[in-house]
Amino acid sequence: MKKHNYSAGPCILPQEVFEKAAQAVLNFNNSGLSILEISHRSKDFVAVMDEARALVLELLNLEGKGYQALFLQGGASLEFLRVPYNLMKESGKAAYLDTGTWANGAIKEAKAFGETVVVASSKDENYNHIPKGFTIPSDANYFHCTSNNTIFGTQIKDFPKTDIPLVCDMSSDIFSRTLDFSKFDIIYAGAQKNMGPAGTTLVVIKEEILGKTGRAIPNILNYQQHITKESMYNTPPVFAVYTSLLTLQWLKKLGGVPAIEKINEAKANLLYNEIDRNTLFNGVAVKEDRSIMNATFTLVNPEHQELFDTMWKEAGISGINGHRSVGGYRASMYNALPLESVQVLVDVMKELENKI
Ligand SMILES: *Cc1c(COP(=O)(O)O)cnc(C)c1O
Repeated sequence: MKKHNYSAGPCILPQEVFEKAAQAVLNFNNSGLSILEISHRSKDFVAVMDEARALVLELLNLEGKGYQALFLQGGASLEFLRVPYNLMKESGKAAYLDTGTWANGAIKEAKAFGETVVVASSKDENYNHIPKGFTIPSDANYFHCTSNNTIFGTQIKDFPKTDIPLVCDMSSDIFSRTLDFSKFDIIYAGAQKNMGPAGTTLVVIKEEILGKTGRAIPNILNYQQHITKESMYNTPPVFAVYTSLLTLQWLKKLGGVPAIEKINEAKANLLYNEIDRNTLFNGVAVKEDRSIMNATFTLVNPEHQELFDTMWKEAGISGINGHRSVGGYRASMYNALPLESVQVLVDVMKELENKI
């Protein structure tokens, strides 16, 4: 039986995507060949790449606005490095918002290139909120933030206004909510949280911000090279790109980002209402900054853990253990997780209350 999969990533994808991807492994487009054995230069795969890149811009409402979408490799972690390589000037500086583990990873890589200014941090409170009211230095080469903090369960609701390039790690909430994406100059996201299998990273770039550092950039790390080569500078991760395309097609059919946003809000409301109502549980993140993707919560009484763990496992739930740096539980409710799965978890929480 299919599990109710709350994994934080790699994560659940739509069932029809699993089925179509499985079919393509056996016989891609009735070609008599597997998607795993075709040339990335074949007409069929070039069409996949072109459609995937175009669909990204369509779903984000960025068509005809000077943006390029790339499917790269190295995970979001390589973008931590590629961003400063492409944007930080010689003896320049970059501004970062520290909202957790992944933001920290990005800051560490940028330090190799120049001065990094951390404009604010919520580290002292174990990242249970998003800092507000900070100032972004106008002489920095760019400002970097993390839209959704996968581990701590916080999410930026209002992005700061700035005249310098705005870079955002959207690994765990890309395509989950409507935003004015044209406010961003670079958006990147590892596919495995909300778009596809592990193995590719989506990077969306406003092309005009590139080429201003005076720095020599190795080709493989150079966004401009990847744009010129239409995301085929070297062999792309064919299967990961194809499966991501299937998810994007599923999302478009559903009504795009506005449609999934409504569903995601319904799921998040259902779970957070229960966390707040049920006296056996506490939420971890402060209410106004709660993520609609990753809900973090704890048991008020740790003695209830064994029973609760047995109950949710019996209900077919998988993957709600919290990250080791937070403890407790984390329910990741990515796009493909059905509302019914959230209802199952809420029912288990109610049942626990009845038993105690
Ligand atoms: C998972 C995650 C990362 C790391 O992604 P990799 O693809 O494993 O490098 C970075 N940022 C955020 C917000 C994440 O959730």
